[in-house]
Amino acid sequence: MATCPRCKGHLTDGHRCPRRPLFVFAEVLGCALLGALLSFALLAAFDPHNQASDLDVVAISVGAIVAVGINRVLRT
Ligand SMILES: [Zn+2]
Repeated sequence: MATCPRCKGHLTDGHRCPRRPLFVFAEVLGCALLGALLSFALLAAFDPHNQASDLDVVAISVGAIVAVGINRVLRT
């Protein structure tokens, strides 16, 4: 059976190369950072004089988790 030049797996019909764990990790991390940045920007836009740092942490965490979640859903 032919082997895939990229992943060395069996080249069957509809073959898809398995995504490398490091790449997946980098993508998830990038998504989380993007989500965190976005929610931080939104928070700053809606509340420029925000003094509650606890809210910042929560908003950034939620933004990161939501971004990763959306990324996971879109990938499947
Ligand atoms: Zn392959």
